[in-house]
Amino acid sequence: MTVLLEVEGLAAGYGDATVLRDIGFTVRAHEIVAIVGANGAGKTTLLATIAGLIAPQAGRVRFAGHDITDVPAHLLPKRGLTLVPEGGRLFPFMTVRENLELGAFARHGQGGAARMEEMMALFPNLRERAGQLAGSLSGGERQMCAIARALMSRPSLLLLDEPSVGLSPLMVGRVLDLVARLVRHDGLTVMIVEQRVTEVLDIADFAHILDHGHLARSGPAAELRADRQLQEAYMGL
Ligand code: ATP
Repeated sequence: MTVLLEVEGLAAGYGDATVLRDIGFTVRAHEIVAIVGANGAGKTTLLATIAGLIAPQAGRVRFAGHDITDVPAHLLPKRGLTLVPEGGRLFPFMTVRENLELGAFARHGQGGAARMEEMMALFPNLRERAGQLAGSLSGGERQMCAIARALMSRPSLLLLDEPSVGLSPLMVGRVLDLVARLVRHDGLTVMIVEQRVTEVLDIADFAHILDHGHLARSGPAAELRADRQLQEAYMGL
């Protein structure tokens, strides 16, 4: 399968502090790759660095055959790489529809109306709430809205940062099912950071365990899922 993302020798952090050290892996097209690990392991930092929000201290990131290490964050959705940050970061005083419209900006609004209709079909709850302020949505709807907004730019790679935060177990299941469906039916590729380890390993193809800023283990998600000792060692489960 085609390699969509290549991360090589990546180091990143905040100011002089280095959080991530020598991170290297590849993501193949149409895969779900999970990043798991304890609090503070560097998962959010890794996604933010790939999404161009944090300048790496060392290493390279290649996406769809191009070096994107120095490409500013705001240009990446146009190239097909979009981040859904933790908590979704919707604009609470804008309507659901307006939030989605902003997601199409990366493509200069082209095809926005057709894509909006696709998103409304995919998320019937959002159609019902299209005119409602995003701030009035429930946690699950907010997460769906954040994913829909990211999909408006027709990404080929979606980076999802802890979509389960604040959601009920039922909603976690729905969000992860949706992610799996998008990969199977729409050819999306997903890198997902999650605290709900067993649930995310159930839908992932491949997984990496991040521990104190380095990759401690990588392997097929099913293997990591079956290894209780490993989960206890790195995630305190
Ligand atoms: P969590 O699951 O708790 O979100 P995480 O694995 O996503 O954790 P990060 O949020 O990437 O971890 O944080 C990794 C390390 O970087 C932590 O030690 C954290 O304190 C530090 N850190 C995170 N954000 C900043 C920041 N803006 N400035 C300085 N240090 C930060």
